[in-house]
Amino acid sequence: MQNKTALPVDLYAVFGNPISHSKSPLLHGAFAAQTHQSLSYSAILAPLDQFEATLKQFIRDGGRGANVTVPFKLDAFQLCTKLTPRAKAAGAVNTLSFANGEISGDNTDGCGLIKDIVENAGVALHNRRILLLGAGGAARGAILPLLECQPAELVITNRSAEKARQLAQEFQQYGPISASEFAQIKGSFDVIINATSSSISAELPPIPDTAFKPGALAYDLMYAAQPTLFMQHAEQHHAIARDGWGMLIEQAAEAFYIWRGVRPDTARLLIKENVLTG
Ligand code: NDP
Repeated sequence: MQNKTALPVDLYAVFGNPISHSKSPLLHGAFAAQTHQSLSYSAILAPLDQFEATLKQFIRDGGRGANVTVPFKLDAFQLCTKLTPRAKAAGAVNTLSFANGEISGDNTDGCGLIKDIVENAGVALHNRRILLLGAGGAARGAILPLLECQPAELVITNRSAEKARQLAQEFQQYGPISASEFAQIKGSFDVIINATSSSISAELPPIPDTAFKPGALAYDLMYAAQPTLFMQHAEQHHAIARDGWGMLIEQAAEAFYIWRGVRPDTARLLIKENVLTG
């Protein structure tokens, strides 16, 4: 008779460099406990020049799926044999599934952002004017999901203005998107999303004060124990500030759903203190 404790558990992991700060093992552990799924989820530090080798070893060891974080989302995209439309549009992958010799790639970041804004914060995006700051990986991943919400307008702005222009051109077939330089931003917005990494260095993107409609949602993708400079600035301009914690939780929940076919309840984890203090 087979020993019950020796049954293999399904293996998952997050790959990054650095990786020790990652909250993903904690979140997926909580999702697994909540939904009674038998799985193990670890954090794997891949050497910067050995992402592919490290990932393929994990697959040989029986890995069923993986999350990918900085700086490997583009490398993961290149390794996929199958991609979802939203991963193709994002040009980057944060969720991998391994089955039948295929490496399937998805990107749950954009959908995590939308879910946090629309469902958790209760802010509609349909018919709204949205300003997106930044043109890096996170901004790129957010554009298609944002346009799918049918905003009145999506304006994208970036420190290196040419990158914003390129993105606006690339996505124009999907909805009303345009690019603007920071200094030329016209009118006020219902939702302003900071997808730059400026908050990491405690800097503020040069947004004109007039961009904040009173009561607008000002969303910083970065999360921290304290409100970021962008959030503080937005509140001074009578906007309602929110950080990217909810996006982190929701992108993880979506990955969990892709792997396990069960959607975890994120409510308890959305309260940052419940997770950060245990
Ligand atoms: P990238 O490095 O790909 O892009 C960085 C972007 O920020 C670029 O557009 C860059 O402009 C801009 N930028 C950097 N510094 C400044 C500054 N001081 N002022 C104005 N613009 C600046 O990063 P990502 O897109 O991957 O990540 C962006 C942010 O989103 C990070 O804070 C990250 O932590 C967060 N994030 C959060 C997630 C979540 O789940 N909450 C998920 C993914 C990301 P330029 O092109 O001119 O260099």
